[in-house]
Amino acid sequence: MPRSVDKCSFCGREKSETLVLIAGINGHICDSCVHQAQIILQEELAAEKSKDFLEHKLPKPAEIKKQLDQYVIGQEEAKKVISVAVYNHYKRIGHTLRSTKDEVEIEKSNIVIVGETGTGKTLLARTIAKLLNVPFCIADATALTEAGYVGEDVESILARLFQVANYNVAAAERGIVFIDEIDKIARKGDNPSITRDVSGEGVQQALLKMLEGSIVNVPPQGGRKHPEQKMVQINTQNILFITGGAFDGIDKKIANRLQTSKIGYKIDKKHDAIDKNNLLQYISPVDLKAYGLIPELVGRLPITTFMHALDRPTLRRILTEPKNSLIRQYTRLFDIDNIKLTFDAEALDFIVDKSIEFKLGARGLRSILEGIMLDPMFELPSKSGNKSLCITRSFVEEKFSKTNMSRLKVA
Ligand code: ADP
Repeated sequence: MPRSVDKCSFCGREKSETLVLIAGINGHICDSCVHQAQIILQEELAAEKSKDFLEHKLPKPAEIKKQLDQYVIGQEEAKKVISVAVYNHYKRIGHTLRSTKDEVEIEKSNIVIVGETGTGKTLLARTIAKLLNVPFCIADATALTEAGYVGEDVESILARLFQVANYNVAAAERGIVFIDEIDKIARKGDNPSITRDVSGEGVQQALLKMLEGSIVNVPPQGGRKHPEQKMVQINTQNILFITGGAFDGIDKKIANRLQTSKIGYKIDKKHDAIDKNNLLQYISPVDLKAYGLIPELVGRLPITTFMHALDRPTLRRILTEPKNSLIRQYTRLFDIDNIKLTFDAEALDFIVDKSIEFKLGARGLRSILEGIMLDPMFELPSKSGNKSLCITRSFVEEKFSKTNMSRLKVA
């Protein structure tokens, strides 16, 4: 009788095909199956940990806000509103999971953040997801089309979330999706166009379904290799959607409403003086409708908040204060090469001034700094001896004058 060959009881590989084959009481396991099992275990434990965290150790709104403060400068109102909305959202999920009683159904708190580009909308959503340890993905509403048209369809957003969640359905179903540029799919004007409105109302309808809570089919890990391979079903009921947009010109709609809202919205004497320079702070769902979002979609985005335009003091703080501020990042980068890097306050003021002058906002701080730091980043690592560099205002002025940016015309 031929001697039986030892095989991995999981994948069936013979001993000669493996690096190591470990023997158990009634079977064997090979090195690659051990590795695979470890990955599965890690994913499962991570999902379990995040579930436990959300259900039992969910930070209170004030704690969430405090953590956001470490990364997002200013935007106090938005941080507060979002901390409460996110807290309620995850409390609701935990509650629904634990409670068997059919009682008051708490609806989810999808959010709209209105604010100019570069004011920290994405940063806010990303930071929230990170501190709650839930999967997070970003989608651009302008790339979306109705199913059947060329472009990305709404389902692809969930496919991405599923991927970020390491193909763990339960984790993806507790994730956060940030949909940017939601204002760009607003209905343009009231005239129904003769051609179909591919990027407008149709996409809003498709988004609506996902926001309301529906079962969406996404391809399994590695894509659908065979037509008969089953799709994975993801329920969007507990996914939190945070949407953002600049809503250019919405201030006029707000102003119109504030002037004509004597009936219904009674503004009391104390608040009679409307701050005309910052009308976004009065944003309400009515304005989103007036802007061209369909009422059903607005109804599914019950939390509305706004971001302030970044003023000079805020930009200056953004340079140094966040936990991973640009200045901290450069200092760390140099530190790895044993170079002590310091910045004079006047040098930082100059960088902020240029970002304001060229209307580049917070994103501009990074590009200006990259231009200024190129030479030292190139030269210093190969220098020998005691290495330190203090970035002064005159250094910054000289380096900036050599960058392409300095040749830009101020708009
Ligand atoms: P938006 O989504 O509003 O267009 P982002 O969140 O992408 O803006 O912001 C762009 C970058 O600017 C961020 O990565 C961050 O570095 C910086 N930034 C913007 N606003 C803030 C803020 N309030 N606090 C800290 N950094 C900010």
